[in-house]
Amino acid sequence: MDYLQAMRPEQLLHTRPEGLYSPAGDFFIDPVRPVKRALITHGHSDHARAGHESVLATRQTLDIMKLRYGEGFASTGQTIGYGQQIAIGEARVSFHPAGHVLGSAQIAVEAGGIRIVASGDYKRHADTTVTPFEAVPCDVFITEATFGLPVFRHPDAAREIDRLLASLAAFPERTHLVGAYALGKAQRLIRLLRERGYEKPIFIHGALEKLCAYYEGQGVDLGPLEPATLGKGGKGDFAGEIVVGPPSAFADRWARRFADPVSSFASGWMRIRQRAKQRGVELPLIISDHGDWDELTQTISDTGAGEVWVTHGREEALVRWCEINGIAARPLHLVGYEDEGD
Ligand SMILES: [Zn+2]
Ligand SMILES: [Zn+2]
Repeated sequence: MDYLQAMRPEQLLHTRPEGLYSPAGDFFIDPVRPVKRALITHGHSDHARAGHESVLATRQTLDIMKLRYGEGFASTGQTIGYGQQIAIGEARVSFHPAGHVLGSAQIAVEAGGIRIVASGDYKRHADTTVTPFEAVPCDVFITEATFGLPVFRHPDAAREIDRLLASLAAFPERTHLVGAYALGKAQRLIRLLRERGYEKPIFIHGALEKLCAYYEGQGVDLGPLEPATLGKGGKGDFAGEIVVGPPSAFADRWARRFADPVSSFASGWMRIRQRAKQRGVELPLIISDHGDWDELTQTISDTGAGEVWVTHGREEALVRWCEINGIAARPLHLVGYEDEGD
């Protein structure tokens, strides 16, 4: 094992066209192309793709992949619990809560006395639909940088929900159409509404049904949900109600049938007024499932990592922050991650 003692981090994990690869364990993390062995951080479609020979993930991530792709999404699926460690080839791997969506995990890979944590997507803001994020001590921390600029500081999500409820009170004749991604954001939004005391049925687009039911089955109480299918009354239905659907549905005819809708969108990107305007969003809600600048920098400090690899998003600012703080850092050029979840 002497050769392992002298291992450099790049020998434990490095990028290949398929994704992040571990020669020590002969596996990929969140590969964007079909591979023999994939370790998957969470169920968003840019991380969890179908067609791998074998997949190792948390039970919930495997369930979510099954819901989205059908039973045959991989030849074999193996589950691993948070905190559990298993050996794959010369590597030891363990999964740890990432706080991003149900079942989401950071993956720690160890060999030759080095531990690298690939965090996938993560956040630390309060979210009662997920297991809270845990900082994992490591030598190299791989972080996303979706909101890796100091301008991104997410407000308290409860306050954003109160703005939605205030609008509902101010415009009782209008339907409030809220765009939220189907996995994670939609359930968190509904849960937040319940936590702010909203008890009426919430109407959901068909694309959310399976995942909402799955969250409920996992113990996340979403309260009364009803399908957002127009009844015989046609226009005028859903006046004064909240309807939640995936953002893509709002471009469809589906969305044009509601009574004088207030168009809303729950996303970290709503911090940028221009984006909200471009999308015709009247009521932008800044609710993100990715860490903001403070969460990213705090997390890097908490891991104690001496080296940071930055991926998906605004790499430069975070790399610079690390350098100023005496931490070696470089961008990791991974392709194919489109940020389904925010
Ligand atoms: Zn992502
Ligand atoms: Zn994600």
